Amino acid sequence: LRRNPGEVEFHQAVREVLESIGPVLGKHPEYAESKIIERICEPERQIIFRVPWIDDSGEVQINRGFRVEFNSALGPYKGGLRFHPSVYLGIIKFLGFEQIFKNGLTGLPIGGGKGGSDFDPKGRSDREVMAFCQSFMTELYRHIGEYTDVPAGDIGVGGREIGYLFGQYKRITNRYESGVITGKGLAYGGAQVRTEATGYGCAFFVDEMLKARGTSFDGKRVVVSGSGNVAVYTIEKIEQLGGIVVACSDSSGYVVDEKGIDLALLKHIKQVERGRLETYAARRGDHVSFVPGRSVWEVPCEVAMPSATQNEITGRDAAFLVQNGCIAVGEGANMPTMPEGIRVFLEAGVAFGPGKAANAGGVATSALEMQQNASRDSWTFEYSEHKLQEIMRDIHGRCLQTADEYGMPGDYVAGANIDGFRRVADAMLSLGLI
Ligand code: NDP
Repeated sequence: LRRNPGEVEFHQAVREVLESIGPVLGKHPEYAESKIIERICEPERQIIFRVPWIDDSGEVQINRGFRVEFNSALGPYKGGLRFHPSVYLGIIKFLGFEQIFKNGLTGLPIGGGKGGSDFDPKGRSDREVMAFCQSFMTELYRHIGEYTDVPAGDIGVGGREIGYLFGQYKRITNRYESGVITGKGLAYGGAQVRTEATGYGCAFFVDEMLKARGTSFDGKRVVVSGSGNVAVYTIEKIEQLGGIVVACSDSSGYVVDEKGIDLALLKHIKQVERGRLETYAARRGDHVSFVPGRSVWEVPCEVAMPSATQNEITGRDAAFLVQNGCIAVGEGANMPTMPEGIRVFLEAGVAFGPGKAANAGGVATSALEMQQNASRDSWTFEYSEHKLQEIMRDIHGRCLQTADEYGMPGDYVAGANIDGFRRVADAMLSLGLI
């Protein structure tokens, strides 16, 4: 705490992992002897930089850019870039810290990192977003590379931004180094299913949790928060698996659509028009209303899929969800449930899939994109989706197996944290004092 003052989200993320791994440290004194915990909490490298650019009115704007290269014991640093006004070092460090264990859990050769900026793309023209991305990459390019650090998208960074970022990287370096960034468009080295991967993967993970309890998505009432990349593809897969998504949200409120969210309309408003959810309610018809300024978790459901941002489910929201009959939660977002909320879910016996496991499909498919770039190959949609489903099934199985091994059956939080930690810690031990 003294070393990282004011970084509250980072403290929260570290505390959650440390609470789980006590039993591992008891079994493996070599971790404590070589100060693995202290080393793992300290990023290998943190870069903070100025991002100057010019807006459409000709005014100079200054933002702050970040890249935290947290841990490269398992492979090149890997993790997204977030563009949102709330971004500061504490947010990037929490995301980077979580990413280390999530990436370990995938079993793929990727280390952990994260980056971003306090730039707010909302309401900015394409030209302004391009100017910002070009300036951001003009510093970032010297720190990244196929074998060093491979960024991707996150909140506020989708296909458009990745295109501008990669374009500037290519221009500055004069290298068509496709493996330097993931989430690319299909026309220039992107991989099938990467866009859909986090949402699809999260739905697959929850499907596995439901199957483990002898049930399925079929006919279940589901609430998804957010309406961005993760939310949209979570809704798509759940609908394909037979669930009915009755509500979703954005930062201004939520919509309830008892007939099930009309995905084509939602995609058009969000991805083509870059509009707001309020428009969805206005166009969809009288049976749909937009509820401004309230939490979507007040809508009764059997399955909750938080897919917007950190700390969006409070202890109170969790108690409400349980009271309303919620039996499963899949975290598409990173750390969306506050510690009190997690306690409520676990005590109530809700199947709770933590982000490190449930949303790992995005980064796993990014690793598959890197694999395809390295071999100059591209796989079909069907094959890529099949690989994603296998990876999610494998992560689910490993969480359960590890939780069993440590006497906490059904606790996916413990299973994910312990399995991810052990992989990274063992690699660090083998690599010597790094
Ligand atoms: P997007 O920018 O595409 O969408 C974010 C959505 O969440 C929007 O609907 C946004 O509403 C809402 N939102 C964002 N911040 C807030 C806030 N402070 N309060 C309320 N609502 C908010 O991002 P993604 O879908 O990519 O990311 C969503 C979550 O998933 C994040 O936690 C991210 O870290 C995590 N994640 C993403 C991965 C990916 O592959 N993209 C991979 C793994 C995890 P509005 O438009 O009104 O701001």
